[in-house]
Amino acid sequence: MNHLARRYGAIIVLTMPLVLSSAPGKDQNGGIRGFFPERAKSERALESKLQGIPDAAHAESNLRHLTSQPHRAGTEASHQVAEWLRAQYQSFGFDAEIVTYSVWMAEPREVKVELVAPSKKALATPEQPVDVDRYTADTRAVMAFNTYSPSGEVTAPVVYVNYGTPEDYAELDSLGVSVQGKIAIARYGHNYRGIKSKLAEEHKAAGLIIFSDPADDGYMAGDVFPNGPWRPMSGIQRGSILYTEDHPGDPLTPGVGATPDAKRIKPADATNLPHIPTMPINAQDAWAILEHLSGPHVPRNWQGGLPFTYHLGPGKSEVHMKLVMDFEQRPIYDVLAKLRGSDDGQWILLGNHHDAWVYGAADPSSGTAVMLETARALGELVRSGWKPRRTIVMCEWDGEEPGLLGSTEWVEANRAELQTKAVAYINTDVGVTGPNFSAGATPSLKEIVRDVAREIKDPQSGRSVYDIWREHSSQKKSAPNGIARPELKAETPGETPVGALGAGSDFCPFFDFAGVPSLDMGFSGDYGVYHSLYDDFYWMKQFGDPTFVYHATLARILGTVTLRLDEADVLPFDYSAYASEITRMISDVNARVREPKGAEASDWKAVSDAGEQLTASASRTAAALGAISPAMLSPATQRELNRALASVEQSLLVPEGLVGRTWYKHAIFAPGSYAGYAAEVMPGVNEALDRNDPATFQREASALAAALARAAVRLDEVSGMAKTAAVAHSGQ
Ligand SMILES: [Zn+2]
Repeated sequence: MNHLARRYGAIIVLTMPLVLSSAPGKDQNGGIRGFFPERAKSERALESKLQGIPDAAHAESNLRHLTSQPHRAGTEASHQVAEWLRAQYQSFGFDAEIVTYSVWMAEPREVKVELVAPSKKALATPEQPVDVDRYTADTRAVMAFNTYSPSGEVTAPVVYVNYGTPEDYAELDSLGVSVQGKIAIARYGHNYRGIKSKLAEEHKAAGLIIFSDPADDGYMAGDVFPNGPWRPMSGIQRGSILYTEDHPGDPLTPGVGATPDAKRIKPADATNLPHIPTMPINAQDAWAILEHLSGPHVPRNWQGGLPFTYHLGPGKSEVHMKLVMDFEQRPIYDVLAKLRGSDDGQWILLGNHHDAWVYGAADPSSGTAVMLETARALGELVRSGWKPRRTIVMCEWDGEEPGLLGSTEWVEANRAELQTKAVAYINTDVGVTGPNFSAGATPSLKEIVRDVAREIKDPQSGRSVYDIWREHSSQKKSAPNGIARPELKAETPGETPVGALGAGSDFCPFFDFAGVPSLDMGFSGDYGVYHSLYDDFYWMKQFGDPTFVYHATLARILGTVTLRLDEADVLPFDYSAYASEITRMISDVNARVREPKGAEASDWKAVSDAGEQLTASASRTAAALGAISPAMLSPATQRELNRALASVEQSLLVPEGLVGRTWYKHAIFAPGSYAGYAAEVMPGVNEALDRNDPATFQREASALAAALARAAVRLDEVSGMAKTAAVAHSGQ
C-alpha cells in the first residue's frame, strides 16, 4: 500500500464506517473493503459458504472432459466444447447462450521446411508421441504453424537473430550482419512472437523461422517431458503472429464486431496482418540449421543450449520454406452465461478462452475447469436462497489463440452496453501450472486481490496464499518461457507485486479498448510444454497439479473476488492507489524529458498538473465515501454512486486512441509496441520519447493531461454525490 492511501485508510478507521482505502482488510475488526460494518458479517458467512464448495475431483473431471480431444478455434471440436460449456452453465442455473462471429482466419494446407544446403534434409518434423501418454499419439493434433503467417515460398541463406528484439537487431547492425533477403532464425522468449515477425519484416528478411531453444524451456531448464515438465527436443511452440500490438481481433473488422453483416475491409488493407512467411520448429530441426552457420561467433549471451558454438551466419545452411495457408471467413463460438442479479444494470464479468492449440490442458483448460467450479459454487449459493446483488457474467471465449478474436469481437459489438454496465472483468487463462500465485490488475483493484489472497489457504502449507505468494515473489526469477505474466515490480517497496496488464489474454479488449477495470490471476510453476502437443491431461496429472488442489484453490479465490465485487455496498475501487501509481509514472517520464527540449518540458508540465489534480480528487473522494453510512443511501443514489465509481477507468481512455495505433484507447496502459505481452505505461509519451519524436510527444502529452483531468472531474462528481447524500441525510 502507498503512504497516502494508508493515511486515508487510518482516517477511515478512526472516524468513518466504510472501509474503502488501502489498509489490509483483515485488520479492520472484521471489516471488508467496500462493505458497511453491519453487512460484513453476512458477507463473510456467504464467502465461507462459497469457499467450502469448490472441489478438486470436480475440477479434475472438468479438465478431463475439456482435454479429451484437440479443439482448435475454427474447428468443429471447438464448437463442441462451446456446446458442452453452455450445457454445464445451464446445469448450474445460468442463462447461457452461444454467440457466433465470422472471422478471417487461416488453416495450414501445406507446411514445408527443408535444408537444401549443405545437404538435403526434410525439417518441420512433427512432435513425437511418447508411450506413457496415449494422448500424444492422436493424429488429429494440428501440424505446427504460426497463425496469420502469409502463404509464401522462399529459399535463402540463414542468419541467427537471437530473440529477435530491437536490441538484437541493433547488435547485428553493429557487427555488420544483415538479414536482408535472408531467412532469419530467432529463438522463442523475451517478446511476443508477432513482434519477432514484425521486426524481421522491418529488417527486410525474406522469411522467419522461430525455434524453441533448450536453454529457455527445454533440458537446460529441467527434465523434459515425459520425465519432467519441460519441452522435449521435438516439442514445438505453435502460436499466432497477428500484430496484436496494432490491434487484436478479426483483421477485417477493426473496432466493430465481426457480425455477418459487418462492413469488412480488404485483407490487403488490414493493419495487423504480418507479411513474411513465418514458421515455428523444434530444437532438433534448429540444430540441423544452426550447426552449419558460419560468420562471427555470437555474443556470449546469445549462445543457446544446443551442443555447439552458435554463429551468426550466413554460412553453408540454405533453407527452403513453403507455406500454403487457407484464409477464409470462419465461425467462432463464444459462450456467455449470466446469473441475473437484483440490479441487472451492473455486471461482474469473468472470462477465459476455451480454444486450444491442441489439448490445451494448462492453456487454457485449467482456467476453464476452475471457472466451471466457480460457477457451480455460485449456482449452489443461489439454490440455497442467495440472489446476487449485481449480475454475474461468465464468458468462455473462442479464438483467443489466433489473436483474442472471440473476446475482442464481443467487446467491440457490445462496447456501449459494457461501458454502461460493466463493473469489472476478471480473467484467468493459464489458470494452473504449479503452486505459485500471481496476478495483474488495474491499480484500483490490486488491494482487493491481496485481501482475498490473505484469506484463502494455500493447500500445501496450510498458510495463506498471500504469505506464500509474498515469500515467492521476493525471490522470484523471471519465467523462462516468456509467457508468464509480465515481470513484476512491486508498486510499493515491501508489498507483494501485482503486475500491470499488458496483452496476451482476453482482458486486453476490456481494459485497453473499453476501459473496464480488469484483473488477471492464476497459479504458475515449471511449464515448458506451452502451445505444444504435450500440454495435455497427462502433463497436468504428472506435473502441473497432480491432485487438482490448486484448481480448487483458484476457484475459491475467483469466487471470493467475485462475491466482494458483486455484493459491495460501495464498490471497493482504490483511486488513491491509482493516483499514486500515476504520480510515480509521471516522475519517471519527467526524468526522461531532457532540458534542452524546452517544448517537451512545457508539454509535460500540463500532465504533472493534471496528475496533482487527480491525486487531490482521489483523496477528497476517499474521505467523502468514508463519511457515508447506509442510512444516507437510497437505492437509487447507491446505484448512481457505484456506476460513477466504476466509470472512472473509462475517463482515462483517449477517444481518438494512441497515435499510430488508434484501437488502443487507454492513456495509462497498452502492450508495448516492441514487447507485445509486457505492459508499457503511459505508452503514448514513453514510446514517443523512445523514438525521439517531439511532435507525437506533444500530442500524446496533451491527450494524457486531458484524460487525467477527466478522471479527476469524474472523481469530483463521485465525492459530490457522496457529500450530497450526507447533507440530505443530516437535514432530515
Ligand atoms: Zn491461453
